[in-house]
Amino acid sequence: MTGSSRPRHLLDFHGWTPERLTALLDNADTMAQVLDRPVKKVPALQGLTVCTAFFENSTRTRVSFELAARRMSADVVSFAAGASSLSKGESLRDTVEVLTAYKVDAYVVRHHAAGAAHLVARYSGKPVINAGDGRRAHPTQALLDAYTIRQEFGTLEGKTVAIIGDVRHSRVARSNAELLPKLGARVVLCGPATLLPADLAALPGVTLTTDPREAVRGAHAVMALRLQQERMNAGYLASLQEYADHYQVNERLMREAESGAIALHPGPMNRDLEISSDVADGPRSRIVQQVENGQAVRMSVLYHLLVGRE
Ligand code: ASP
Repeated sequence: MTGSSRPRHLLDFHGWTPERLTALLDNADTMAQVLDRPVKKVPALQGLTVCTAFFENSTRTRVSFELAARRMSADVVSFAAGASSLSKGESLRDTVEVLTAYKVDAYVVRHHAAGAAHLVARYSGKPVINAGDGRRAHPTQALLDAYTIRQEFGTLEGKTVAIIGDVRHSRVARSNAELLPKLGARVVLCGPATLLPADLAALPGVTLTTDPREAVRGAHAVMALRLQQERMNAGYLASLQEYADHYQVNERLMREAESGAIALHPGPMNRDLEISSDVADGPRSRIVQQVENGQAVRMSVLYHLLVGRE
């Protein structure tokens, strides 16, 4: 353990040391063992209440966080923005104050605005996990990606991860570009120039290219990103067909990666657009493992923030 103080929230990886991040991943191994038992429940969070506050849609993240909290015996209250008083004009601050008055102990927050989870942390004074804020960060997705790669190769040290697609709108790409180099991996971000913000090249351990073949050369893991058409407000692409012709993660492209390379996708997938079905369903795919690992990794994060002591 380093001397740095223990982070109270997981909003992004700012303030998280490689040692602490490795401890989170190690602890996820223990959580995965709990999930393999006939009775998948431990009392670690008994008496605590976790609120999952989703202001934007989700399947995997929300379900896995709710299950993760329940597996550790927490009470879970789910807040869906569309069905709340927010739709009557209540502010985020007032909403959080109401929830906090009910003695919520921690928040899991997804929001379309970057920085929203930081605000919930400030308004509530409770530990907050960012479950995706706009295009900025999605730290638990990056952790489960790192966990999945580590599970395959035993380490992230010296590994190369190519992330291909709509980097511009992807909080997953940003969080992975922050996390993976902290754990010793090299990240290559790739997409059409309009979807590849040049400022990301300033991150340590990260390089950019518009050439997918160059991106996957020497890669141990190749992650396809969803084209986030709901966040596109300009003509970023000439056509979807042209995008697929050049940037789709398919067998032809995977053959140029390392021989044992695995394929990842954070989901939800646009099949046969950013990833071909033969790769998504093929032997190199670890997409189902990513989903499965999400639960153990989120258990580890909840435990670490709410009760864990090294
Ligand atoms: N599920 C991921 C996210 O919430 C990726 C995506 O939506 O494409 O950011």
